[in-house]
Amino acid sequence: MQRRKFLKKSGLTTAGLMSAPVLASCKTENKPENTPATISVTKPIAICTWNFVNATAKAWEVLENDGNALDAVEQGVMVEEADVNNETVGKGGRPDRDGNVTLDACIMDKDGNCGSVVYIQNIEHPVSVARKVMEETPHIILAGKGAEQFAYEQGFKKEDLLTESTRKQYEEWKKTSKYETTINIENHDTIGMLAIDKNGDIAGACTTSGMAYKVAGRVGDSPIIGAGLYVDNEVGGATATGVGEEVIRTVGSFLIVELMRQGKSPQEACEEGVKRIMKKNEGRKDFQIGFLAVNKKGETGGYCVHPGFTYREYSENGHENRQVQSFYTG
Ligand code: ASP
Repeated sequence: MQRRKFLKKSGLTTAGLMSAPVLASCKTENKPENTPATISVTKPIAICTWNFVNATAKAWEVLENDGNALDAVEQGVMVEEADVNNETVGKGGRPDRDGNVTLDACIMDKDGNCGSVVYIQNIEHPVSVARKVMEETPHIILAGKGAEQFAYEQGFKKEDLLTESTRKQYEEWKKTSKYETTINIENHDTIGMLAIDKNGDIAGACTTSGMAYKVAGRVGDSPIIGAGLYVDNEVGGATATGVGEEVIRTVGSFLIVELMRQGKSPQEACEEGVKRIMKKNEGRKDFQIGFLAVNKKGETGGYCVHPGFTYREYSENGHENRQVQSFYTG
């Protein structure tokens, strides 16, 4: 209840405090002719890990209709949660080694409020449960059975998340039960999304079924605030995909936002984030990590360990899949 009151209050107080991501010159009535004044012109933008066209298009639709960044990222990533062909997010995500689909998700708003669910089962949209945790409870993270119970109390439906395809793949996998990651292919379709709305406010969301065939109970970076996602409305936001254990060890997304605060561009900050990880993993080549970031000006950047990671960007300049440079080039 306290949190709700706080949210309402902060919503009121921040309404008049719009930021100025892009500064443009213009004339105002109070200024003499020829005296330029600066006004704030905010350019909305949505970016996400990988080439999720429909997810960014959805986020953009929200932003274009004057929706806020929080709604944009939630509704954007929900597209992937509902897509059974995306086998690492939401419904249709690959199971853990016991055959259970367990999902991780988090969301963060412009005021630093955040919500997260880890190891939740039978719920198609963990990001929306994470938002409920943020808005309806005094907590930040709910796990496992408790998170699932909370979701039912909030009106979410019980769903079987295993599909025919993932069931078959799991049966196949059991023949060898070999746990290994395949760079850029089987385990890395987590969606992390960042958006800036017309008010210049930033929000982010991240959702995944985690590493396929993981040990039961394993939680990755994606729902961990600061690791898989971080937003600071004064500075920017960052999110990650790839082997979560390595992202957690460096608190990757928080690190990138802090590097931007110190003056680095999103591109430079993502590069430094990956380099920190590689410093702890000298010579290791068997894992992928991709970071992406946006700053308050709407500039974006991304960097990864191996070639192949891309991010989608949607702004008034168009809709494109951006190639990302990598630590290893071959
Ligand atoms: N980061 C996710 C995790 O470790 C997996 C991924 O992005 O592919 O759970």
